[in-house]
Amino acid sequence: MTSRTMRCLTMAAALLTLAGPAAAQVNRNLDAYKRETDAAVDRLHVFTQQMVDQVFSFAEPGFQEVESSKYLTGILEKHGFTIERNYAGVPTAWVATWGSGKPVIAIGSDLDCVPASSQKPGVAYHEALVEGAPGHGEGHNSGLPLSITAAIAVKEIMARDRISGTLKIWPGIAEEMVGTKAYYVRAGLFKDVDISLYSHVSANFGSGWGSGTGTGLTGVQYTFTGESAHSASQPWRGRSALDAVELMNVGWNYQREHLRLQQRSHYVVTDGGAQPNVVPSTATVWYYLRETDYEHIKGLRAIADRIANGAAQMTATTVSSRLTGSAWLAHMNKTVAETMYANIEAVGLPAWDEADQTLAKGLQKELKQEESGLPTKIQPLRGNIPPDQNYGGGSDDIGDISWNVPTATLSYPANIPNLPGHHWANAVAMATPIAHKGTTAGAKVQARTILDFLLRPELVEQAWAYFRDVQTKDVKYQPLIGQEDKPAIDINQELLNRFRPSMRKFYYDPAKYKTYLEQLGVTYPTVRATTPEAGAPRTSSPGG
Ligand SMILES: [Zn+2]
Repeated sequence: MTSRTMRCLTMAAALLTLAGPAAAQVNRNLDAYKRETDAAVDRLHVFTQQMVDQVFSFAEPGFQEVESSKYLTGILEKHGFTIERNYAGVPTAWVATWGSGKPVIAIGSDLDCVPASSQKPGVAYHEALVEGAPGHGEGHNSGLPLSITAAIAVKEIMARDRISGTLKIWPGIAEEMVGTKAYYVRAGLFKDVDISLYSHVSANFGSGWGSGTGTGLTGVQYTFTGESAHSASQPWRGRSALDAVELMNVGWNYQREHLRLQQRSHYVVTDGGAQPNVVPSTATVWYYLRETDYEHIKGLRAIADRIANGAAQMTATTVSSRLTGSAWLAHMNKTVAETMYANIEAVGLPAWDEADQTLAKGLQKELKQEESGLPTKIQPLRGNIPPDQNYGGGSDDIGDISWNVPTATLSYPANIPNLPGHHWANAVAMATPIAHKGTTAGAKVQARTILDFLLRPELVEQAWAYFRDVQTKDVKYQPLIGQEDKPAIDINQELLNRFRPSMRKFYYDPAKYKTYLEQLGVTYPTVRATTPEAGAPRTSSPGG
């Protein structure tokens, strides 16, 4: 018997026992439990704030989440979770499990930060903590604190009232490279999972089902190898790998005209040689190739491979490639998203105060964006967006998970609206009361949603019916990673090694300081007083 058939039988049995008055009793209990987890999450707000601040201060880019993972798994272990480390061949990945029996609920969120977005929190203009260093310019420092808070609030009730169920918390390692979730799927993390609840930082509460806007992608590094020589005295003996990189990029940029409008692609040169008088014997260019479905993502990769081979032929170099990450375009589950959204409506937005609004408007003004401040109304539930109305956008490897188990994303209000993304400005709010309040509100929603799926087996069944009969009726998941592909765990190692010594001085010490803002001596909020003349900053160190 397959585990899925088993699941159906278990659920059918559960449904039988819950007819009539029993079901009414469950709903009464459920409401009481939800009020209980709301209160528990409120009581945990200092615990949550410390986690948000601590992970913010570690600021570790993809695959280098060493301190962050050590810290969070330590907390989970203290709370009775069993930790499986080094998961799926990724040293910073782990899975934390608590409880037993069905249903199995997976709760995930990302952990990595963004290169070159170091920023002092609570300050509404650019002021790096360490110039050029990685920083949480995406806000991933808040997601696992949210997941952990929610799980702890629920598990106390589960333990006390002997409620059956297993909670599995997992980190999105190297999400900025869409680097691990397909490997988690391959390693079997979601094999027995009934419902998957994901969360991602946003500037408002939200959820949605079906296909959204955005793209899937493959990340590919092309490394060319030539022959070094003295660039002036014997250039004819050299074969430049950098020439090949440049020609590949020229080829790709001409190709763009003849690609579907849905594609989005970009590259950085991560190795372009050492100094001009040495013909570069190696050079590497790193591409993100984005499209909206499996076939087209595969197709873009094939075109890039062809152009890379052409560039190698033109320069008499050789080329090799490796996959750095992959993601399907997500398809979110209707039942899971609707359940989540009902809880969003029940919890509502945090009560922002004057200081929060001042920081938000100060930052929006600094970036010459609409000074709308923080949201006071939640976004409507998003429904399915047909492919012809998807104008592209970012990617998240939650897509792969969404095609393996009913999944929905909770967007929670822990950041400021109208920011550019992957930018120092996106780090400004992430260790301030805005992030703390938003993460607490998000944890309440996630705790309530966990309770819904623990106590209403018919919802689990409904979610699987949508997954089976609608979502995967015609489209079946095939991984974009091959059997030979391995997680690109070495990426960012040198980067972090370079900055770690100067970043360490800024690690948060909750034993000495109530908040990270207090440790840094930041007055909350710090905004420019006035701009005396356009573009002339009055502060001494506004940075780049
Ligand atoms: Zn993200």
